[in-house]
Amino acid sequence: MNMSSNSLLATDQLRPLPALITVVLPAFNEARNLADLLPELTRRLTAGGQSIELLVVDDGSQDDTALLCHGLIQQGLPLRLLRLSRNFGKEAALSAGLDIAAGDVVITMDSDGQHPIDTALAMLPVWREGFDVVYAVQTGRRQSQSMARRGYTSFFYWLMQRGSRFELPTDAGDFRLLDRRVVLALRSLPERARYMKGLFAWVGFRSKAIEFVPDARAHGETNFTFTHLLALAFTGLTAFSKVPLRLVSVLGLLVSLGSIAFGLWIVSEKVFLGNPISGFATLAASVTFLAGVQLLCLGIIAEYLGRVFDEVKQRPLYLVQDLTAPVVGLD
Ligand code: UDP
Ligand code: MG
Repeated sequence: MNMSSNSLLATDQLRPLPALITVVLPAFNEARNLADLLPELTRRLTAGGQSIELLVVDDGSQDDTALLCHGLIQQGLPLRLLRLSRNFGKEAALSAGLDIAAGDVVITMDSDGQHPIDTALAMLPVWREGFDVVYAVQTGRRQSQSMARRGYTSFFYWLMQRGSRFELPTDAGDFRLLDRRVVLALRSLPERARYMKGLFAWVGFRSKAIEFVPDARAHGETNFTFTHLLALAFTGLTAFSKVPLRLVSVLGLLVSLGSIAFGLWIVSEKVFLGNPISGFATLAASVTFLAGVQLLCLGIIAEYLGRVFDEVKQRPLYLVQDLTAPVVGLD
């Protein structure tokens, strides 16, 4: 739709500017990055008189994050600090932020400055057009990855998407704008397995992607190593997909059929061709093969059992150390 040529109609249909925007910033040892980001975010977002609330979720940082935030609050920045009792991980920190965000619109972005403020600002007009979720997608990410990485990423998405009714967008992350109704929907989800990307997709609502190129990290290093990402992928799979369990059954069926066929072949070789039944090597190979298949299947089932174990414990997702007062002017 061409907005400018049809401006009256389009303006009529646009949502009004939100009364309050909350920016949720999960932070783990990001004091130096936050020192640059928070004043800049405030300046850019409030430029048009917009009310905002910056919500830093300190996920058990060991650095001066709290000190910095208290200082900035004293200087009058519209900032709240939610300190968790220890490091719970980004997914839990995000959930904590969403749980207390007061805004009609909530933007989730990283505290390390990798998510450009320009992109956050560009999300707002899309929300005003009527979309409830605007998610940022990294451009050109696939091209920069190795063949192997692209391979297993595709396999992961294939597994996740088999038989599911919701669409999990590839290359989207936790840099998003959410309408309040989406935030409320996310709050209502009881599970402990917080694979946020999956939960965002599961709740649905009208969503639109916008592209962005991440900036370089100014200070510190990424917290997400390959092993972390792999663990997160396992959480996602076992929390969202039953396909691995079905694959176990299919594998079991295939192996049984294979061994029946093999058995028939050996017998017919003996009966019709008179070949002696070959002994130890065949036996050893098939026993070890079957043992491997069984262990693999047990492992897959155990992953799900572990998931159930985590869920039945019903432990809180995070614990709060303290929370600063609401931003002045808000209740
Ligand atoms: N983060 C967090 N808790 C953690 C790890 C990371 O809150 O246990 C935050 C981190 O401070 C940053 C965001 O999550 O704001 C993304 O982390 P990072 O930059 O390490 O990940 P990457 O950008 O490499 O995906
Ligand atoms: Mg980062």
